[in-house]
Amino acid sequence: MIIDFTVNINNYIEKILNNYLFFDYICPKCGAKHSFTRHASYKRNICFMKNNNICEEEMCILRLKCNSCNSTHAILPNDVIPYCVYSFSFIINVLTKYYSKDNKIKDICSLFSISFQLIYSFISKFLIFLKSTFSVLNNLGCEVPCTPQKLVLTINLYQQNRDFLYSYLFNTQWMFLMKKFHNILSHPIYIGSFYIEKLSPT
Ligand SMILES: [Zn+2]
Repeated sequence: MIIDFTVNINNYIEKILNNYLFFDYICPKCGAKHSFTRHASYKRNICFMKNNNICEEEMCILRLKCNSCNSTHAILPNDVIPYCVYSFSFIINVLTKYYSKDNKIKDICSLFSISFQLIYSFISKFLIFLKSTFSVLNNLGCEVPCTPQKLVLTINLYQQNRDFLYSYLFNTQWMFLMKKFHNILSHPIYIGSFYIEKLSPT
């Protein structure tokens, strides 16, 4: 699985699906450079935030094949969590509302068109990742917030520049990942080389 942080859900068709030229990735399995060919695609549903609006779409995901080792890798845009319909920013937005205390659960349910069970599953996942979130924020040079409310607000702030999920992946793994994948998908996940260069301190 390759996550390309230069690509988002909105420009995925243009940048990935319509790209018949060249994919500038390194194979996560064998390390071969630029040796990918288009292999197949599959459909998945995704629920995400777009200009503060909730969008639900069926997305076509491209799978590439490495010409050196024959492994195949799905290309995911930033904001997507593997095997989860809800995007990272969607979950963070729900949690922001929940922890702000001004909103009742039933109001959050109707605002996002989700059940209260789903909200509680987001919260319990968030609490599982709480400890590692502190260390990621520490690495970002951020003063670690003392309450979940401030923590979610801080994540939201960093995520607006795509920095949080990127740093989280780089330090640990995917946030909000299903428990059964915690040990399987930890590494290796290759992240678009262009964005690594842009973010690296010079
Ligand atoms: Zn390979």
